[in-house]
Amino acid sequence: MGKFKLKLSFLIVSMTIVVVLATSSISIWSSYRNFNEILKENKTDMQEIYVKEVSTITEDYLQGAKTNDHSLEPYMEQVVDTLLDERMVSFSLFFKKIITPIIIVVAAVLGLAIWLAIKITQPLKDLSTKIEVGEEGQETEEIADWYYEAKLLKNNVQKMVICSQSKISDLTEQLNLDSLTGIPNRRRMDQTLHELIVDKVPHAIILIDLDDFKSINDTYGHTVGDEVLKAFAINMQNSVGDQGFCFRYGGEEFMVILPSMNIDDAVQLAESLRIKQALQETACGRPVTMSAGITAFTPNIQSPNQLIEIADHALYKAKQSGRNCLCVVRNMRQMIVK
Ligand code: GH3
Ligand code: MG
Ligand code: MG
Repeated sequence: MGKFKLKLSFLIVSMTIVVVLATSSISIWSSYRNFNEILKENKTDMQEIYVKEVSTITEDYLQGAKTNDHSLEPYMEQVVDTLLDERMVSFSLFFKKIITPIIIVVAAVLGLAIWLAIKITQPLKDLSTKIEVGEEGQETEEIADWYYEAKLLKNNVQKMVICSQSKISDLTEQLNLDSLTGIPNRRRMDQTLHELIVDKVPHAIILIDLDDFKSINDTYGHTVGDEVLKAFAINMQNSVGDQGFCFRYGGEEFMVILPSMNIDDAVQLAESLRIKQALQETACGRPVTMSAGITAFTPNIQSPNQLIEIADHALYKAKQSGRNCLCVVRNMRQMIVK
């Protein structure tokens, strides 16, 4: 069985109905009493009219009785009937004069209460719908906040939505960044590559691996290794600048994506980074070189993994060729650059 929901409008309308019914019952009862009072007040006047009327009829009868043989009873019945009719308040009259106006008032008050309840609850309902469907904060502007509490609630909801949106975008940003180097991580790299491949944007990629990095950790410690990784990330970003995007692929491996760059320019950029890195002073006091596999998007590439696999194979070849060098895969043909 579903749960019964107590809505504010329901509460207001129910309370109004109770109040209206109570007040109308009291007013009906008091009207009835007033009516009786009016009747009682006229009692003395009516008594006089009764006596007069009965006396006249009796005299008429007595005069008539001398001449004919009629009984008094039918005369008296007629008189009593007439008098009773005069004194009788018919139900239709009572309904017309008392009940109908009350019903009209009650209906009007009830209608007004329902209209007011709808007006009060409408902004709350609209706000809740907007929050439920997760619409933008600005769109709550359209909500009719015609009373103070609704305005207050709307403002606070707007603030809350803006605040949570900025928190979500901060968190999403953090989710896509590598915690050690601060550069975009593999997750963001996959998204970027996927978008470029789906949109068939020509681009080149450089997959980089630092050489003999295990020995750096083993000789100088993990902390020094971390510093070398951070310094390399800065070096790489400085070399790439606004020509492309740098990512930490994982461990001591990095990726550069160069949208709209041809493979020759990508090789040139990678070569200048390799030379710069080989000459760079490092936290461990000895040069830390890099090897790289370079390739470019071709229309037969369907997924990021396909492209990365080619670059990874080229990187493997570069390592095999003695490290501190590049291997380029151009039109499925490999070439070592040293
Ligand atoms: P190669 O030239 O063949 O790439 O040799 P390598 O030693 O660089 O490669 P290997 O895969 O044997 O070792 C990679 C090392 O990188 C091992 C691992 O401890 C280290 N490493 C991976 N991530 C981090 C990190 O975040 N910080 C530090 N300090 N070291 C890391
Ligand atoms: Mg590696
Ligand atoms: Mg390595």
